[in-house]
Amino acid sequence: MIPGKALKKSARPAEKKRFYRKRVNFFPLLNKIKLWPSRRGLLHGIQSIEIRGQTATIVTHCGKSFTVAESRNSRAARWLRNKWFAEACPQCNIPRWKLEKYAATYFRKRWGSQLKAPD
Ligand SMILES: [Zn+2]
Repeated sequence: MIPGKALKKSARPAEKKRFYRKRVNFFPLLNKIKLWPSRRGLLHGIQSIEIRGQTATIVTHCGKSFTVAESRNSRAARWLRNKWFAEACPQCNIPRWKLEKYAATYFRKRWGSQLKAPD
């Protein structure tokens, strides 16, 4: 045994893959991923999300605030699932681990977490 060898692992293991259902509800997904794909192709970090029934108020780290409706088929829901964005918002300063976690997130039709809200 070579002393110290066990410690020479890579600093961080590769991000674990996670799977969600394609038909997962939008708000629990937003609440989990905390990222918002804007219409202009910028990926924003969500600072807070306040859910009130079928609408939610989202505040991004770059200070934008808006209200969205719960819809799995909305533009943002689709873009989020498909990871359609041109670049991460420079002002939101999304940490790398969060982007890596998102990159390791997959959406499957038949299996994966359904993110049921515990109510
Ligand atoms: Zn932003």
